[in-house]
Amino acid sequence: MEISFAREAQMLRRGQGELFHGEGILAIAKALLQSGVAYVGGYQGAPVSHLMDVLVQSKDYLADLGVRVEACANEASAAAMLGASIHYPLRGAVTWKSIVGTNVAADALSNLASPGVTGGALIVIGEDYGEGASVIQERTLAIALKSSLILLDPRPELGHMVRMVEEGFALSEASNTPVMLQLRIRACHVRGSFACKDNVAPAMSANHLTEAPAPFDYERLSHPPSTFRHERLKGAERLPAARRFTVERRLNEVFAGRREDLGLVVQGGLYNSLVRALQQMGLADEFGDGALSTLVLNVTCPLVPEEIRDFCLGKRAVLVVEEGQPEFIEQEIMATLRRHDVNTPVHGKDLLAMAGEYTVEVIAQGVAEFASRYLPDSPLAEGRAWLAAIATRRAAVLAQLAKPLPARPPQFCVGCPERPVFAALKLLQQDMGRVHIAADIGCHSFASFEPFSSGHTILGYGMSLASRAGVSPVMSRRTLAIMGDGGFWHNGLLSGVQSALFNGDDAVLIILKNGYTSATGTQEIISTPDENHKAHARDKHESLVHTNVAIERTLKGIGVRWLRTVDSYSVDAMRATLEEAFTTEFPGLKVIIAEGECQLERQRRVKPWMAGLDKAGKRTVRVKYGVDEDTCSGDHSCIRLSGCPTLSLKASPDPLRVDPVATVLDGCVGCGLCGENAHAATLCPSFYRGEVIRNPNWRDRLAAGMRHAVLSLFQPA
Ligand code: SF4
Ligand code: SF4
Repeated sequence: MEISFAREAQMLRRGQGELFHGEGILAIAKALLQSGVAYVGGYQGAPVSHLMDVLVQSKDYLADLGVRVEACANEASAAAMLGASIHYPLRGAVTWKSIVGTNVAADALSNLASPGVTGGALIVIGEDYGEGASVIQERTLAIALKSSLILLDPRPELGHMVRMVEEGFALSEASNTPVMLQLRIRACHVRGSFACKDNVAPAMSANHLTEAPAPFDYERLSHPPSTFRHERLKGAERLPAARRFTVERRLNEVFAGRREDLGLVVQGGLYNSLVRALQQMGLADEFGDGALSTLVLNVTCPLVPEEIRDFCLGKRAVLVVEEGQPEFIEQEIMATLRRHDVNTPVHGKDLLAMAGEYTVEVIAQGVAEFASRYLPDSPLAEGRAWLAAIATRRAAVLAQLAKPLPARPPQFCVGCPERPVFAALKLLQQDMGRVHIAADIGCHSFASFEPFSSGHTILGYGMSLASRAGVSPVMSRRTLAIMGDGGFWHNGLLSGVQSALFNGDDAVLIILKNGYTSATGTQEIISTPDENHKAHARDKHESLVHTNVAIERTLKGIGVRWLRTVDSYSVDAMRATLEEAFTTEFPGLKVIIAEGECQLERQRRVKPWMAGLDKAGKRTVRVKYGVDEDTCSGDHSCIRLSGCPTLSLKASPDPLRVDPVATVLDGCVGCGLCGENAHAATLCPSFYRGEVIRNPNWRDRLAAGMRHAVLSLFQPA
């Protein structure tokens, strides 16, 4: 990847007493090193991508320290990496995006949780839930509960988050249980400072090799009959040990309020939003000191019954602020109080929304309801007016709109190589009829929006080919699965290709080979073009991805017999190849590799290089496309076939034509799709290709002069 984390990597080296300033997720990276972690692995994904990115870019320093970093093929391989901590006193950490990544890792996690660990095992979970989420709305807590894992949900303050990482490793060792550290989107991106400690080199590492593997111990295998003992240990020893550690180290926090007769119980990650909501409702001052005492659950699994009992005892009522459904924590608190014969009324989902992100506004509404029942004299008027003003503003904006605003869905980047593939698919379906399209996770899922509206289902990362297996047999026309190269390596090769070959499936698969896992931040994969080719081809307009044929070799090796490679930008060739795949007599799996380098990555490489040449006074050529406004027929079929954000509209210069004409904005990177579409769909001949030459040489000046002279003969000024 071309993004540099050099500055952040430097901060990882800071020692005792120095100040670290930055994002929450980068503070976690520093905390891992301060904790003596021996190995780190993971699979990138928002909101935790930067954790792996900065560590991968710090590999040399980490190697000196003796820390091993692995960019894992998927979350399952990351979870399996924690197997090192089962026998050995090695502290290990892995990371991924949840809930999807946790689902992929679930098998390995169960098999890790069963025997338990010797060295501390920490799973840094990017909890991608709520208004900024990009995945299904489920919570990691359910996984922790079913596998008897420990779940930390730290209050989002950098110093506290760092402490929870350090305590998390110790907690894992004290209870022989893997620990999940859940970071919500806001916690990953919260900014702040903390005083560093020195990094700790692990005692066992590549720098300090160990002579002998651990002795054979059947009890450490997640095999029956060991598993029966493991299940008993979880309940009888490990979780009680985790609860003891939680109490001794005061991992959960109680913030006393002015009133002790009412209480709030909140997941640690929601604490900042709760304080803001209390301030808005006049129930906390500007320093966050509140009217109500608050139990902050930095450990949400397992809960400590005695802590819950002691906090609730003697209170008139308690409000549980718990995001997501079902309300596991609220139910457990109720059961705990019943067991201890404490009759404090417990509120939660009866006053707060069952589903969705607990924003300040949502929490404030619940707090207002709670306070009006139990604090009728509290000064809620201002807070209620604030809530009402938000509602009024929202209603006013809606009322002003004659009709709802058009949706502005995410888009392919300008010049993306995946856009032309969907243009070709659209053209094919116009001629051949619609086909069932199994879509996948990745940038190509943007094709599910206008103008392509392509894709019937998305079942998971790399799962498209597998997800059409039940559809293919009932369709008169072949089905199409689309996946990216990231999805292919993550899961698609085995779940999709291997299965389709083994079952003799008759289906078509497009693999969008752009060279990176682009949607997660253009991280590199095994089929990424190598650095030498990148260095030698900066100024070339051709795709670089053909320089790495790992996917092609793998497909041939596994037995794919119908395989075509097509340049992504060649719309006509892609349409023809798709047509062949849908009509050929060949009965098995047909794979089309659409080859075109991720434009975002390419521009990151090319732009600084071009700027350097410009500055040095050297000749550079940039290709741009344009629309001749006199020729444009105004039917906008080019826009419906492209969706490129730089292909836009402007008023027609002809006063006799009311329809706007198409225009190409400045952002055009000259990918060539406009010309390809015009040719493949036989559009009006209004597109032209231009070259912007900087620092022209004498030949350029001579050619320009001659052109100008000829044109001025026909178009006198
Ligand atoms: S990141 Fe790359 S693959 Fe993704 S939309 Fe942008 S250009 Fe296309
Ligand atoms: S050539 Fe067309 S599709 Fe490509 S970047 Fe320019 S305007 Fe967009």
